[in-house]
Amino acid sequence: MTIFDKILAGQIPCHKVYEDTHVLAFLDVNPIAPGHTLIIPKEAKAQLDELSDESAAAIGRVLPRLCRAVMAATGCTAYNVLQNNGGPAHQAVFHVHFHIIPKPDAESGLGIVWPAAKLDAAAGAALAKAIAGCVQ
Ligand code: 5GP
Repeated sequence: MTIFDKILAGQIPCHKVYEDTHVLAFLDVNPIAPGHTLIIPKEAKAQLDELSDESAAAIGRVLPRLCRAVMAATGCTAYNVLQNNGGPAHQAVFHVHFHIIPKPDAESGLGIVWPAAKLDAAAGAALAKAIAGCVQ
């Protein structure tokens, strides 16, 4: 049982901002900017790739609405939506969650290291074909 399952079960408190049949949203307990919000499915899955279409659709439906709410409440016009899967990808709580993180200015909010490389045309074509062949 993750800490988010305990929040869903009402065993530990949270600052709730939204709830429906499939989704709960609440403030992050260690915000990296004011208004840092977490959106979770009620379905207990660790990673996004495991999530049912029903939960995924429910999150997709409310995510932009919650972004607008965070913007309106905090006054931010820039923000990041972050979703980590797996320990090496900085996931700490193994229950699917999306972060909405206001980016008030260059110094605060989410900092990103983006080690971009140039896509090789032949390798890119092969990789796109391989991924496309795996879409179900
Ligand atoms: P991750 O690195 O897994 O994407 O992020 C997990 C997030 O969950 C962190 O930002 C962390 O602050 C937040 N978090 C961990 N435990 C709790 C908790 O008990 N309550 C709330 N509201 N947030 C939590």
